[in-house]
Amino acid sequence: MTTAAPVKTQYEAVIGLETHCQLSTDTKIFCNCSTEFGSRPNQNVCPICMGMPGVLPVLNEKVLEYAVKAGIALNSEIAPYSKFDRKQYFYPDLPKNYQISQYDLPIAEHGWLEVELVDEAGKVTRKKIGITRLHMEEDAGKLVHAGSDRLSGSTYSLVDFNRTGVALVEIVSEPDMRSALEAAEYAQELRRILRYLGVSDGNMQEGSLRCDVNISVRPVGRKEFGTKVEIKNMNSFSAIERAIDYEIDRQTTALEAGERIVQETRLWEEGSQRTISMRIKEGSSDYRYFPEPDLAPIEVTSAQLQKWKSELPELPAQKRHRYESELGLSAYDARVLTDDRSVSEYFEAVVAAGANSKQAANWVMGDISAYLNNEKLSIAQIALKPDTLAELISLIEAGTISGKIAKDILPELFSSGGSAKEVVDRKGLTQISDTVALETIIDEILAANPKELEQYRNGKTKLLGFFVGQVMKKTSGRADPQLTNQLLAQKLKS
Ligand SMILES: [Zn+2]
Repeated sequence: MTTAAPVKTQYEAVIGLETHCQLSTDTKIFCNCSTEFGSRPNQNVCPICMGMPGVLPVLNEKVLEYAVKAGIALNSEIAPYSKFDRKQYFYPDLPKNYQISQYDLPIAEHGWLEVELVDEAGKVTRKKIGITRLHMEEDAGKLVHAGSDRLSGSTYSLVDFNRTGVALVEIVSEPDMRSALEAAEYAQELRRILRYLGVSDGNMQEGSLRCDVNISVRPVGRKEFGTKVEIKNMNSFSAIERAIDYEIDRQTTALEAGERIVQETRLWEEGSQRTISMRIKEGSSDYRYFPEPDLAPIEVTSAQLQKWKSELPELPAQKRHRYESELGLSAYDARVLTDDRSVSEYFEAVVAAGANSKQAANWVMGDISAYLNNEKLSIAQIALKPDTLAELISLIEAGTISGKIAKDILPELFSSGGSAKEVVDRKGLTQISDTVALETIIDEILAANPKELEQYRNGKTKLLGFFVGQVMKKTSGRADPQLTNQLLAQKLKS
């Protein structure tokens, strides 16, 4: 009698993200204080953002515009009527003891964004991730844990209110993600969209984009969610990915051992590459939300909505699809080129100037991107303009210069710009495609290297490369490579 081996339970992760994103308005959400990053502590404050008695907050119209544009770009329904609420809690960096946020009537709900995943074989999978809601709120200040007092030895903290009242949107996703990769892609696509819109710089180092991850694990096939854990304190996409992978592993191992998952908030520790418990959640906090009495409800008119809709740029997912369907690029190339809006616009300008799209893509993704990385520059900062790159590509295609020569003159074009043709003419770099001229050079080289010639004729055909190299050396790389190979092959045989 045989007994079947017990089937091992397969687990799957259920992941949702809450993202706080700082809007790139010049002034704060309810006052005229500057939002400049890196100012002297407590330089950008006033009675309104300090929550003094008797002051009246006024909504910055740009904040509403940016929030609505983000909502539209995330395929959400924009609420024609919404309002602000007070979220009560005490924290030393929150001078009012409440935060102005949106509770039951957020500005946008029921949206989605599309993530694109590429597996090892290059196969592309697209998936829609639901957006539960997007709401506007103000940021809190920042505590600086300064050290300990020299006399008493007691520790103390300083508070910087510059960030208090800076405009945020919080974007809450549906628990639609099933892997660390999907979650990291979601966060990146979200940032890409916000940057394309110009509503946020999405700078994670400066805290403009902060992600909290909710994650639980359940047996595959079960509908109910497992107990969820929240992970905070992640300041890069790779940290999000590693923290989730760690948590999936930790929770799965615990469940397999028959343990119970505790609902808690955990922190990602970069040093040890693990999550550690920060606090156990005992029920949900009661923030005693109530409508903010000092701010009028928000009504978005259909005229306003139409105007903001019409101002939206082409978004990353639309661009990716268009690059594949219209320009015939691979999904990979389309992804790389559309990651940054200014790079995609540069690329499109090169194509508009007449360059073949695949050639343009190769140059932008290859030499130009390497140069930008090395020099820590953005594409807008280089002297090589799209027209010139298109000109350079056309010189190669016309056979005027070789690809090697094009790469050689690139550094000059990067730093001084100007015309590619002018550089080629001035430096006398035009390709030698004249058969007679090339034959003369080849004859000289064969005569000067009798030993190698004999070895070649005795069967060491690998030496073809040596002769090609000699021709290139003699012509400073200007010999037409294809013609050189062809003529050399003929001469060596004879
Ligand atoms: Zn202020």
